Amino acid sequence: MVPSALSSLTSSRLTAHAPLAPYTTFKIGGPAEWLYEATSADDLAAAITAACSASMPWFVLGLGANILVGDKGVPGLVIRNCAAAHTLSSDGVLWSESGAVVGDLVLDTVRAGWSGLEHYIGIPSTVGGALWQNLHFLSPAPERERTMFISEVFADCDILTEEGERRTVNADYIQFGYDDTVFHHRRDVVLSARFQLERADPARLHQILQENLSWRGSRHPWLQVHPSAGSIFKKIEGVGAGRLIDQCGLKGFRVGDAQISHIHANILVNLGHATAADVRALIAHAQQAVRERFGYQLEPEIGFIGEF
Ligand SMILES: Cc1cc2nc3c(=O)[nH]c(=O)nc-3n(C[C@H](O)[C@H](O)[C@H](O)COP(=O)(O)OP(=O)(O)OC[C@H]3O[C@@H](n4cnc5c(N)ncnc54)[C@H](O)[C@@H]3O)c2cc1C
Repeated sequence: MVPSALSSLTSSRLTAHAPLAPYTTFKIGGPAEWLYEATSADDLAAAITAACSASMPWFVLGLGANILVGDKGVPGLVIRNCAAAHTLSSDGVLWSESGAVVGDLVLDTVRAGWSGLEHYIGIPSTVGGALWQNLHFLSPAPERERTMFISEVFADCDILTEEGERRTVNADYIQFGYDDTVFHHRRDVVLSARFQLERADPARLHQILQENLSWRGSRHPWLQVHPSAGSIFKKIEGVGAGRLIDQCGLKGFRVGDAQISHIHANILVNLGHATAADVRALIAHAQQAVRERFGYQLEPEIGFIGEF
């Protein structure tokens, strides 16, 4: 029976006890008490407002590429953000709803000869998730001398504030950092965003796409075969969390079906039937090994969602 608080939402897109694992890149996690598929920015805002007005817990899910969902699932309302409308204007301004998949926007903009998003090819993310974490990747080959951030092409975004107000805000409000923005500290939600892109030669942009995909493919486990959530631990400046784990001899180490990748020690992969409990035990094992051997405390960079 749909609670009265959620009766304003489109019932065909509202499901009780919906498994969340298929909606995460780890392919792990229990069910949402309620799962709603929001198909526009207004729909997303309405779903959050409905949950808030009933004091029901809520969570906005993008591609689930930076989270681990607990085996016991998530109470309240999980809103899967499928609001993906976007337009590209003749002056290089890309407007996009926050559920658009960054990879789709990369292809659209590159084909139209606009530069700015090509660095993020191959990274699973919605626009909302990308702003939440200030998506980043290395600058193009051959230099690769610096990290590029999505904030560099960000113009502004429409948000629903945690107080329930809709506002347009700029970079001063977002406070972009490394894996950090205001969205880590306030329950504001990105509804849509605008990016300012620059004219470029599509042939050069396609070259960058190919080089970036090739670079990733040779260094990271392949997501379609070995599901993961990308890097598990935060970067340790000048040291490298993955290098420390590797030096503890942990590549290939398993707990159940969760394994420290053979090719990148800061990535844990799901060999098929890993549980969130397996992943948490593996995280704890890596933390303990690194602490005992090197004295560093590894801190997870992924979000732990729901009940474990
Ligand atoms: C194989 C792999 C490779 C990766 N490589 C990189 C990389 O090179 N660089 C990099 O930066 N990251 C990388 N990541 C991490 C991941 O891709 C990013 O963190 C991505 O931005 C997550 O986006 P998402 O839509 O999946 O967010 P989710 O994982 O669904 O959500 C993450 C957080 O964002 C919040 N959120 C989602 N949408 C909104 C919104 N509209 N408004 C406010 N908050 C929102 C969620 O509530 C949650 O707290 C990688 C991940 C994987 C699996």
